[in-house]
Amino acid sequence: MIIDDQHYDVIIIGTGAGGGTLARKLAPSGKRILLLERGEAMPLEDQNISDVDIFQKQRYHAPEQWYDSEGEPFTPQMKYAIGGNTKIYGAALQRMRQRDFETVHHQDGISPEWCLKYADFEPYYTEAEALYQVHGQQGVDPTEPFRSGDYPYPAVEHDPTIQPVLAGLTQQGCHPYPLPMSLSLQEEDPTGDSEVFGVAPALDFGNVTLKTAAKATQIVTNPAGTVARGVQAEVNGEPYLFLADIVVLACGAVNSAALLLRSANEKHPDGLANGSDQVGRNLMKIQMSSIVEVTAQANSGKYPRSVGINDYYWGDRQFDYPMGHIQNMGGVLQDAIFAESPPVLSLITKFMPNFGLKQLATRSIAWWTMTEVLPDPKNRVEVKQDKLYVNFKPNNAEAHDRLVYRWLDVLKAVEKDSNLFSRSGLHPRGEVPLPVMANQCGTCRMGTDPTTSVLDIHCRTHELDNLYVVDSSFFPSSSSVGPALTVIANALRVGDHLLERWR
Ligand SMILES: Cc1cc2nc3c(=O)[nH]c(=O)nc-3n(C[C@H](O)[C@H](O)[C@H](O)COP(=O)(O)OP(=O)(O)OC[C@H]3O[C@@H](n4cnc5c(N)ncnc54)[C@H](O)[C@@H]3O)c2cc1C
Repeated sequence: MIIDDQHYDVIIIGTGAGGGTLARKLAPSGKRILLLERGEAMPLEDQNISDVDIFQKQRYHAPEQWYDSEGEPFTPQMKYAIGGNTKIYGAALQRMRQRDFETVHHQDGISPEWCLKYADFEPYYTEAEALYQVHGQQGVDPTEPFRSGDYPYPAVEHDPTIQPVLAGLTQQGCHPYPLPMSLSLQEEDPTGDSEVFGVAPALDFGNVTLKTAAKATQIVTNPAGTVARGVQAEVNGEPYLFLADIVVLACGAVNSAALLLRSANEKHPDGLANGSDQVGRNLMKIQMSSIVEVTAQANSGKYPRSVGINDYYWGDRQFDYPMGHIQNMGGVLQDAIFAESPPVLSLITKFMPNFGLKQLATRSIAWWTMTEVLPDPKNRVEVKQDKLYVNFKPNNAEAHDRLVYRWLDVLKAVEKDSNLFSRSGLHPRGEVPLPVMANQCGTCRMGTDPTTSVLDIHCRTHELDNLYVVDSSFFPSSSSVGPALTVIANALRVGDHLLERWR
């Protein structure tokens, strides 16, 4: 084992939404910061998802196997790279609603109260939107939470393909709003991500070091097991030990839990920070179904996503429970998750040449319906004989079905009055399968009670004073909007705590 001769003030493992943002926040402090990232820089041509080849290549899958509850192997749809999953995400950066931080009764059970409230996150949401150059428009979405200021950039313009649909939706009583999007405004790499806004600017400071192809394999503690001493990692396949005063995990919800479990030692026989047996439990990922409308005329298949709908977020007159969020997909040729979603298109992908798929993709307008999944201790990450198991069964299914059918009704009503759509009446749709790990969260939840949570309000483990987790693991509940902005805001919040700790 090679022992690195530097001693760092902090090691951050992972450079995605959580880790990359935290590095940017801490960089001006002058502290010695080491970033360990198991991936490498993602080539620009792979980032620009704009071709049918997304449906035919496994480019957006991690190069490893996980196992489901039946022991069947699968390759998770994830990216190991500088920037993590933000390199392939949809870049829709939305705030959770105020009520999402409270106890909410769902049709299938309770979404628990957070120990911090929307008001605690609001200043960090504002900071996150500024850092990630979020383009949006306040005052249109009726469920929009309180904001202390407007978006830093104006909303993305709707593509001409989607414009007439908006008018139809408004006629049906919906309140479509401009979806808040992170954009870098760089011609070559337009989508905002944590490499562009986190890692790259952090590296401009001489005190920040990045090691790529560096996979953390274990967190090492002192003999008493009270303090983390450093991180063992394989760097280009060679075993290394890096030492630091503070260790921060930001590997993503599944991998951070797995790393804690793999770091079991004599003082922590069931995994690090796992005296409560909570590490890995309560894994959540929002239920997502895609719905496709077939259009009469062709479009580019590459236009940006731009529309959100929250009219059914908290339910409606016929269903008194939350149903969730809807957004348009943008050109389906740009959507990594969609490539795995609708069974109809998946079949075409396998059995038809490019032309058929492209033709269908450019004659469609597609939507995501997204419903909160409730925390369930049985939905969990486990490590057995070094294999990583993801036991996950989505719950709150009726609420999701209702959202899908409600939205189908609205779309059909819009189509009836328009000549934009094909008269086929077809609406291919599909739910995302287990390997799509896009919105994973909740495996090390934050709370004030060490018997029911892993992290305290600073996202520090209850059991080790200098060990933190800043990725999506900390979520006590998932909400129905994508988690990335809340991960980014939380990393900025934890960053303030660490700066205070160093003062
Ligand atoms: C296709 C897709 C579309 C999405 N669209 C949206 C969207 O539009 N809006 C939204 O809000 N969210 C979206 N998401 C989800 C969003 O990307 C995640 O919520 C967010 O990236 C989570 O941040 P994180 O820091 O928890 O983890 P990640 O961003 O996944 O970062 C984890 C990092 O840790 C690294 N790592 C893992 N294990 C190790 C290890 N052992 N050693 C060293 N490094 C390690 C990984 O390589 C990675 O860089 C999408 C995700 C996907 C995959």
